[in-house]
Amino acid sequence: MPVFTDRLKVQFKPYSRPFLRPLHTSYGRWEIREGLMLRLRDRTGRLGWGEVAPLPWFGTETLQGAIDFMRSLDGEIALEQLWQIPDHLPCCQFAFESALRGLSERSEPPRISLEPARVAALLPAGDRAVAAWPAAWQRGHRTFKWKIGVFDSNLEWQWLEQLLQHLPANGRLRLDANGALTPDSCRGWLERCDRAGGRVEFLEQPLNSLAEMQAIAPKFRTLIALDESVTQFKQLQACLNAGWRGPVVLKPAIAGFPSRLQATIQAKKLDCVFSSVFETFVGQGAALALAAGAAPPAQRALGFGVDAWLEPLSNDWLERLWQQRF
Ligand SMILES: [Mg+2]
Repeated sequence: MPVFTDRLKVQFKPYSRPFLRPLHTSYGRWEIREGLMLRLRDRTGRLGWGEVAPLPWFGTETLQGAIDFMRSLDGEIALEQLWQIPDHLPCCQFAFESALRGLSERSEPPRISLEPARVAALLPAGDRAVAAWPAAWQRGHRTFKWKIGVFDSNLEWQWLEQLLQHLPANGRLRLDANGALTPDSCRGWLERCDRAGGRVEFLEQPLNSLAEMQAIAPKFRTLIALDESVTQFKQLQACLNAGWRGPVVLKPAIAGFPSRLQATIQAKKLDCVFSSVFETFVGQGAALALAAGAAPPAQRALGFGVDAWLEPLSNDWLERLWQQRF
């Protein structure tokens, strides 16, 4: 009889979850969130769950890349092999370490539920945001994320004015440009944000160039936050080495091994905004565990206000997924 002291059984299932309405970002239209659910089993029968939720346009592996890796394991993984999952498979690193940490007698990971006040609600791009925020406010959200750089700046500035006209003083906007602005339009946005009476929490990734953002940031009160610049762990380190001290949006599900990320957060006392990549409760639970251990200097709302965008998951979703043939 083989003894699996340091080997874990590996099972995985692909899932796909449609958006209720396609999501428009500066990367284009997104209709279905696809990923993998991972289940590890140790020799005592304990189960651990992980989630691979790739975002290839943020530099992660593709879904197929993750499937190929899972298949290459041939049903089991040794612990030393787990810690050697290469950096070009950051979603697999996240899934395997979360599953390892989550090993327990439970048959399924717990569902998480977050107070809306702790979560930033994602508004639709364009002028639809103006009509959409009050419903999210009613649900208890106080921080709202709006994708910008999708339409002409002059149009978006008019919609920003309309948003700010009605948003109460304790409401906060996060403007996320996904790197789509020019240095000129970035300054135009920051001037308008500075006039918003502190209601714009930050302008997220206005430009692709870190150096240009570092040159512009000190001239305005409104903070610039990095997102795309820090999606890969190596990029985060490079930005910190280049002197970045502003907020950083961290997406644990695509950032590699959680323990490595956590060590950096604590060592550098990062001002973190934890964010989802439309993963399910399995990946979100692991990401939240990381956020809870980070104790950021400013308790910023979590970027997890995404469930309303996706088809709801039934209570037996995971169980049924596990019965599916693949
Ligand atoms: Mg972003």
